[in-house]
Amino acid sequence: MLSYRHAFHAGNYADVLKHAVIALVVDYLAQKDKPFYVHDTHAGAGRYLLGDAKAQKTGEYRDGIEKVLAAAEPPAALLPYLDVVKAMNPGELVHYPGSPWLVRQLLRPYDRLFLTELHPADLKLLQGTFERDRQVRIEQADAYETLVAKLPPKEKRGLVVMDPPYELKDDYQAVVNAIGDAYRRFATGTYIVWYPVVERARVEAMMAAFKATGIRKQLRIEHGLRPDTDQHGMTSAGVLVINPPWTLKAAMDEALPWLDKVLAKGAGQYRCQWLVEE
Ligand code: SAM
Repeated sequence: MLSYRHAFHAGNYADVLKHAVIALVVDYLAQKDKPFYVHDTHAGAGRYLLGDAKAQKTGEYRDGIEKVLAAAEPPAALLPYLDVVKAMNPGELVHYPGSPWLVRQLLRPYDRLFLTELHPADLKLLQGTFERDRQVRIEQADAYETLVAKLPPKEKRGLVVMDPPYELKDDYQAVVNAIGDAYRRFATGTYIVWYPVVERARVEAMMAAFKATGIRKQLRIEHGLRPDTDQHGMTSAGVLVINPPWTLKAAMDEALPWLDKVLAKGAGQYRCQWLVEE
């Protein structure tokens, strides 16, 4: 049973970090004059209206993208992401990019984007957004089953984004298994896996499992507005990046203190560290 809808959370602090990293990686891929492929396993609706009842109900974007846009002098690392958000919102903040829209804006005419999404309502919105777009392909299919079948891409360069809702406890292990299988077929690709910190022990177990895969070059980037707790609810969120661009760590080392100042008045917690080095 699928109940998660990303519209409730679009533009929150976890989206800010995840989308800033995705935009940096795609921007990096686009610097070389060779085609690349992006495979987004959990696509969501594609883009979001912040005036929508769902976004208004939680108001999460107000403690995320709204504060970031209002703050002075964002670090260079955030610019590829913020440029896309600003281009969608020439006036006040109304629209927010999901990962598919964000990536699509950064493609050149010869790059490709492949999306899987299971929820029928979000799938419909996604299809509407990319109707007649020849660079985007969408399948209503399972994220994990489809990924391996599509790799390696013919371009031999690319990015896999895996952003599950973690509604099912099995997701934590499914993610590690799917990335391990995908990496065996496409070891030169970059992989971005998003994770929430709801229960610290569960995340650390997932990190230990990633470490145990033997995959090299795993960079962990995390930001939280509140200390870990036993209570219900997400306190931090992060991304694990496999084969990051060599520039990513320095860029995020600069961006994280700025984000923490803007989003948590400097009282949050963040890290950017190698889970596994080269
Ligand atoms: N990546 C999107 C973004 O950044 O804008 C948000 C994705 S949202 C966190 C997760 C999405 O995964 C939901 O829309 C949900 O319906 C979808 N989903 C859940 N399980 C799935 C599965 N096994 N295969 C494909 N999609 C799935």
